[in-house]
Amino acid sequence: MEIPIRVRISNRHVHLTKEVYEKLFDKEIEIKNDLSQTGEFAAFNTLTIKNSEKEIPNVRIVGPFRPYNQIEISKRDARILGLNPPVRRSGDLKDSLEITLKTEKATVKVKGLILANRHIHMNEIDALKLGVRDKDMLQVIINNERSGILDAEVKVTPKGVLEFHIDTDEANAFLLEDYDEVTLKI
Ligand SMILES: [Zn+2]
Repeated sequence: MEIPIRVRISNRHVHLTKEVYEKLFDKEIEIKNDLSQTGEFAAFNTLTIKNSEKEIPNVRIVGPFRPYNQIEISKRDARILGLNPPVRRSGDLKDSLEITLKTEKATVKVKGLILANRHIHMNEIDALKLGVRDKDMLQVIINNERSGILDAEVKVTPKGVLEFHIDTDEANAFLLEDYDEVTLKI
């Protein structure tokens, strides 16, 4: 079975615990816009991520708060920072790296720097219909001037919206734009 699926491109971003947020900011977190995955939002708040003298400013915080800190960057960002973080599924922070978070108020060092694995969001009804399970690996077919087939992990959550999530480096490599349609092979 082959079905069309929408591509969403994730730029570098940060998920924080409430504790770390409160160390870094005096004001409450402010919603800039809701994201397509239900309940997730981009905040107005941004911070700088830093490894010794190398830094990337204006990295957006994605809410709501989580029980762990997780900083998702691209391989290109990792090169700028001089770091080599592992590819991880969201929430799996095994061997993730330490990174410094900096705002006008404070500087905090946290563990949780990763390259996010590409994934396919869906809810339980989608998963039943498609006959797939959480953590299954599926193929995504890209048909353009830089065509190719990518493996992607299924991520089933109660409020998941069927979408294919990749980072900016992956999107650029395959000439993909946000909201492009590709083919999911099952
Ligand atoms: Zn994220």
